[in-house]
Amino acid sequence: MSTTQASVVDRPERVLQNYVAGEWVDIDSTGDVIVSDPATGEGLAVHPMSSNSAVDSAVRAAADAFGEWRRTPVPTRAAMMFRYRHLLHEARDELAMTIVRENGKSVSEALGELLRAIQYVENAATVPETQKGAVTENVATAVDIEFIREPLGVFVVIAPFNFPAMIPLYFSWAVATGNTVVVKPSEHCPLTTVRMIELAAEAGFPPGVINMVLGDKSAVEALSDHDLVEGLTFVGSSEIAATVYQRVTGNLKRCQAQGGAKNHLVVTDTAALDRCVANISSSLFGCASQRCFAGSNLLVYRSIYDDVVQRLVTQAESLKLGVGTDPDAGMGPVINAAALERYVAAIDAAEAAGARLLVDGRGATVEGYPDGHWLGPTLIEAEPGSAIWDTELFGPVRCIHPVDSLDEAIDTINASDYGHSAVIYTERGGLARRFRQSVETGQVGINVGTPAPIAFYPVGGRKSSFYGALRGRGVDAVDFYTDKKVVVSTWHDTDGGDQAGVDPAFEGTV
Ligand code: NAD
Repeated sequence: MSTTQASVVDRPERVLQNYVAGEWVDIDSTGDVIVSDPATGEGLAVHPMSSNSAVDSAVRAAADAFGEWRRTPVPTRAAMMFRYRHLLHEARDELAMTIVRENGKSVSEALGELLRAIQYVENAATVPETQKGAVTENVATAVDIEFIREPLGVFVVIAPFNFPAMIPLYFSWAVATGNTVVVKPSEHCPLTTVRMIELAAEAGFPPGVINMVLGDKSAVEALSDHDLVEGLTFVGSSEIAATVYQRVTGNLKRCQAQGGAKNHLVVTDTAALDRCVANISSSLFGCASQRCFAGSNLLVYRSIYDDVVQRLVTQAESLKLGVGTDPDAGMGPVINAAALERYVAAIDAAEAAGARLLVDGRGATVEGYPDGHWLGPTLIEAEPGSAIWDTELFGPVRCIHPVDSLDEAIDTINASDYGHSAVIYTERGGLARRFRQSVETGQVGINVGTPAPIAFYPVGGRKSSFYGALRGRGVDAVDFYTDKKVVVSTWHDTDGGDQAGVDPAFEGTV
């Protein structure tokens, strides 16, 4: 496991701390786990679990810092985001190596994540533009109306393990708009966040504006229930997203909860196959398939099915497993032993139920890394509706099935409990347009296998892939982390002001 009980892996010397009110503090903990390298099994740090009182002190620090931070001029806040962006960019190689070590990605995948992550900060730095309100003059005689996008207070960001830099940086928009935050990284991959918080301190964010607590379920619950928390952004698996969303909104707070996915890729007989196969393979197996936008289920037109199967089998079999620092490695380890066990059990069960294994990654090894959590790319011919087809497996276990029409593919996609993304490969615009309109997913790819929105476009799925109204990133994030206060005003010492407010059509009718 990336996090294992302290007794199993040698206890590392490094013990992680919380970051509260501008200080690194020892954690009043309820226990701990060890963060370890999924490729080598080496213990990297002890991760204590924050008690409720440790969580409470972080939230209080954020609440204390809010008043001054929200009054800090917007250009000053933006300048600090720019400074932070610069420091993250300067540190990208070091951060990439931290991602490689705690998560198992390759160096190029980690750098790719950082590129996207840093774009979050860049987009949040546009806050002088995106936080603008609006004014309309003379909605009645000498009466003006305006709205101001106000920050609300303390926001919480809960991150999953698979993007240790990108997802914790959702806090960028919260902070840029004048809120203060408490970030809780995944207990599997906290080290990248720890380093990014050190860089935030270096960028000059005042004490208490950005806080970090380490923990798991219990910390999330304490944050969800805390009176001083205004809202919470969650990214993780669907079941937990649903629980967290219910809890936070039950406490009458704002919540956006991004969940899991089971993304379908449709390969039509009008696809430019020679150009698409590498893209399909990368969607299926990039980042060891530990991406919410990864293609999981392939629906392939029957007339080209055998050809596509053969090409994908060749691609999958050519992927070399290896550590993230091996430039020839096409795929890294899965996050931990528990995940590996779950994936192997799912393949075993699918096989027992009659599914046909086209590529079998079970039992994979990497020379020199006997303690890594290795699973080779696995491709299974499976029936829609079977467990292996329907259940999210956040690892390199992918399914394929032939279809006779676009309608059959769309019906299969829409039968899924998930609604994150769907992809079509075709060179026919009309077909792509029908697909775009018909699939019940939050994102659509057209000849793009991993249609993840960039920082300035909103991200979020449908059905169990997302709970909430306002999505993540971009202007949606600005709206989520602010409230539009509407002000109606008149001044009796201005022209026409003596008539102000007397218009019965304006005042007194509502
Ligand atoms: P996870 O749901 O196990 O954990 C996410 C966070 O929730 C972690 O910080 C964890 O400490 C916390 N947590 C764990 N158990 C909890 C509980 N019972 N109550 C409250 N909080 C709890 O997810 P993961 O395994 O870290 O990440 C993989 C999942 O995240 C996949 O399902 C993937 O599809 C999803 N994901 C979704 C998106 C998206 O944008 N929709 C992006 C990345 C990952």
